[in-house]
Amino acid sequence: MRTNLYIDGHWRPGSGSVSVYDPSDGSVITEIQTAGEKDCDAAVMAAFNALPKWSKTAPRYRAEILRSAYEIMISEVDFLAELISRENGKVVTDAKGEILYAAEFFRWFSEETVRVEGDFRKAPSGDKRILVTRQPIGVSLLITPWNFPAGMATRKIAPAIGAGCTVILKPAIETPLTAMAIVDILERAGVPKGVVNLVTPTPAGPMVSQMLHDPRVMNLSFTGSTEVGRILLKEASDRVIRCSMELGGNAPFVVLDDANIDEAVKGLMVAKMRNGGAACTAANRIYVHKGISKEFTEKFAKAMSGLKMAPGREAGAQLGASVSIKERNKIAELVELSVKTGAIVETGGIMPDGPGAFYPPTVLTVDKSNEILKYEVFGPVAPIVTFESDEEVIKLANESDFGLISYVYSGELGRAIRIAEAIDSGMVAINRGMISDPAAPFGGNKQSGLGREGGFDGIHEFLQTKYIGVDI
Ligand code: NAP
Repeated sequence: MRTNLYIDGHWRPGSGSVSVYDPSDGSVITEIQTAGEKDCDAAVMAAFNALPKWSKTAPRYRAEILRSAYEIMISEVDFLAELISRENGKVVTDAKGEILYAAEFFRWFSEETVRVEGDFRKAPSGDKRILVTRQPIGVSLLITPWNFPAGMATRKIAPAIGAGCTVILKPAIETPLTAMAIVDILERAGVPKGVVNLVTPTPAGPMVSQMLHDPRVMNLSFTGSTEVGRILLKEASDRVIRCSMELGGNAPFVVLDDANIDEAVKGLMVAKMRNGGAACTAANRIYVHKGISKEFTEKFAKAMSGLKMAPGREAGAQLGASVSIKERNKIAELVELSVKTGAIVETGGIMPDGPGAFYPPTVLTVDKSNEILKYEVFGPVAPIVTFESDEEVIKLANESDFGLISYVYSGELGRAIRIAEAIDSGMVAINRGMISDPAAPFGGNKQSGLGREGGFDGIHEFLQTKYIGVDI
């Protein structure tokens, strides 16, 4: 297990250490090294020095390294899934799903690396040729959250190094071990020294600020809360650094009166409970047509109460621990707030005794003005609201500063698409509980972010367009 910083091709100690905990029982897994100012500066220097050579390597060379990282990651899925489960708390089945998703970014971007398009054409006036080419933007700072410690790291590293950028990865302090394991894979896949660096500045704020003000850093790719995203956008504005922002969500899940109720319940179990509800894509505001809400709520509450909550590596576990007691308490506080503002608890809602950051699957029925609907609940809590018309539900779905993803269940595709088009979110899932796919553009509207990761767009977050006008 790697526990050191990775700078300029060396695993080395930093300026201090912190413990990494197993949230399912509170025990210490290990100590990791933390980065100080000098370590962050050394990481920037290493990335900066490696950039000229790396950015000029053949795309096929970079693609082969990414492909090799994919192969290694897939061959180590069991070890990696166990590691994620230990430091994050999620169940091993979710962790395995995350590793397969994460590895796929290495494969997808190994394919995209060799297909970056340019353009060459005659100007309409005929006076010159227009040559458009795309170049790596430069040293990129990648900051990732704890909820998908593998997926959020590879979704950035793969397009960045595929594009020819060099990077400094800063993982969340709760889940650094997975990030370290991924960097170890990249080293074994043949990434040259300095191209990928990993630091764990603690606390993050001052040293991230230092790096964003360093003239050698050209790009920031951040995944995390909207609150921190806003701070970083302000920081980045001082040097007008390019920013990609994957921020918070508060996804509406709409069940129309013509939906197949059993399929919608199945879909909601995925949309709400994948990753224990700690997903930016998690369904958080469940809008069910009044005519079917009784049957839907009964079936959904039954499915939720049947889940086995247990430490993530226990056989049969379906809901693991939250990442920390602090995160678990945030979930409990939101449920309390919801009850205070009129929610009825259909199932769950009672925090278990004992060690571990557990919160049970919880279904609430609430009024459309209930306080919980205003917040991103990062846990297994589903508030259900009823509605009566398509117009009403579109309005309710759009009553949020977030616009990452929405879900629509309907028996009529045309009706579902009309609603999908009217909801202001970067992604809409129709009759499915999950649509994340490395081959598709992931990202949000409104305060859920800027830019897109994955798909054909993802590599462009690390490229800049250059126009060369040629006198011919
Ligand atoms: P967070 O508190 O915003 O932290 C995310 C990252 O930012 C961590 O690495 C954290 O470092 C760092 N950070 C915190 N404060 C900072 C500061 N002042 N300056 C610089 N860096 C700072 O988010 P989280 O709790 O880890 O993750 C949950 C959030 O991420 C949710 O809102 C979720 O919706 C969002 N998310 C979005 C997507 C998406 O694709 N849109 C995907 C996954 C998660 P430390 O850990 O060291 O504090």
